[in-house]
Amino acid sequence: MKKIILFSLIAFVSVHLLAQDANLPRVKILATGGTIAGAGNAADRAGYKAGALPIDELLAAVPQIHKIANVTGEQIASVGSQDITIAIWEKLAVRINEIFEKNEADAVVITHGTDTQEETSYFLDLTVHYKNTVVITGSMRPATGISADGPKNLYDAVTVAANPLSRGRGVLVCFNESIYDGRDVTKISTTKLNAFASPNTGPLGQVYDGKVEYYSISIREVNVGSPFSVKLDSRLPKVDIVYMYADASPSLINCSVSDGAKGLVIAGVGNGNFNKAYMDAISAAVKKGVIVCRAARSVSGRVVLEDEINDKELGTIVSDDLNPQKARVLLMLGLMNTSDKAKLQEYFFKY
Ligand code: ASP
Repeated sequence: MKKIILFSLIAFVSVHLLAQDANLPRVKILATGGTIAGAGNAADRAGYKAGALPIDELLAAVPQIHKIANVTGEQIASVGSQDITIAIWEKLAVRINEIFEKNEADAVVITHGTDTQEETSYFLDLTVHYKNTVVITGSMRPATGISADGPKNLYDAVTVAANPLSRGRGVLVCFNESIYDGRDVTKISTTKLNAFASPNTGPLGQVYDGKVEYYSISIREVNVGSPFSVKLDSRLPKVDIVYMYADASPSLINCSVSDGAKGLVIAGVGNGNFNKAYMDAISAAVKKGVIVCRAARSVSGRVVLEDEINDKELGTIVSDDLNPQKARVLLMLGLMNTSDKAKLQEYFFKY
């Protein structure tokens, strides 16, 4: 115990006393927990507690980052990302907008668990109103594991954040030396180090040996022009996701509607399809004023309007190329502005 306190103290002092270089960009690290801050009992075993280590200890593990940026840290939350809440998203969005508004930093790096990183990245992509760079990273192995990937991912994320080429690209996810658009990225592996991919678009670039290279741009960046804003305690409307599978019964749709959902995202099969039982339950939900968005459980592709399903007649909209969990984020934010179906559909084609 004494050792841990001493280590934390040394880490804290060393992080805060390191000389600031006025020529380097200022990068603020916002820590939320996750495996990158995970501590286990044995270096050779996978079991650990996510979010156990504070930001100062994460930074102390990568002293090299102070050569590329003036780095300061703030603890926003200490949770495994399975426990991320809308309240934490709001806290992040509000704080990041404030950091840029008050010119407290040039760029932000968020350390975050990997499980829901893709939802946080898209939420912030839509609600941060500045062109300044925001990069999210995490790790698959805890800080105490053999060959932990957290320090390298954090170093790379700061390298990406400090690079002027990253500006204006919306929220980025930097993981395992690849840079992804926070809108398109998704977690593709339960345990492998190469845990992320953007199935429809591929990565935007890479960071290797301290060099940042981009080879594509996203055409859907919003930042300064975003119509979506949140405050602390914005009370986002309830939107649920219902999975479709062979011979599914509509009970979860009905349950969600009677539980007060204002929106439903259906993780449909194939091109966002569902069976007759879902069709009837969805038709009833739409008649009650619930906005129903067809997404797909397929790993890539777009959900196409009026293909096998007559959306006009059923009253549904489509998620375009957003997966169900990202479609839920957009539908919640969209419903804060409007309940007009045509406008909501426009959001899905635009953002
Ligand atoms: N369950 C962890 C989390 O999302 C996994 C990770 O960080 O990789 O926080």
